[in-house]
Amino acid sequence: MFWLLNKIYQIFNPPQEVIDDKLKRKIEQQRAKNREEALNMVVETDPNYWDCECDENYIHKKSVTLFCSVCKMTEDECSDSRPNEIKLYYKGYKK
Ligand SMILES: [Zn+2]
Repeated sequence: MFWLLNKIYQIFNPPQEVIDDKLKRKIEQQRAKNREEALNMVVETDPNYWDCECDENYIHKKSVTLFCSVCKMTEDECSDSRPNEIKLYYKGYKK
């Protein structure tokens, strides 16, 4: 009986080598990203802009709007934007 349970266990929990390279690379990338974030604990932000929860167009200028009509988030619930991301949305943006 135990061998059967063991077999089932192996099917659902394949040994590390079975994980394909693509997944391995993805995990490695995520780890690298986490390490990078840990190193940059002090993230530079611009207090004039904020990020809402949207996947796109999530950077808002505080002097223009403090509320996102798409995800319904308000400025005080969110964090300030990062200058390198603001640059992508606002051409000519300078910190
Ligand atoms: Zn939003």
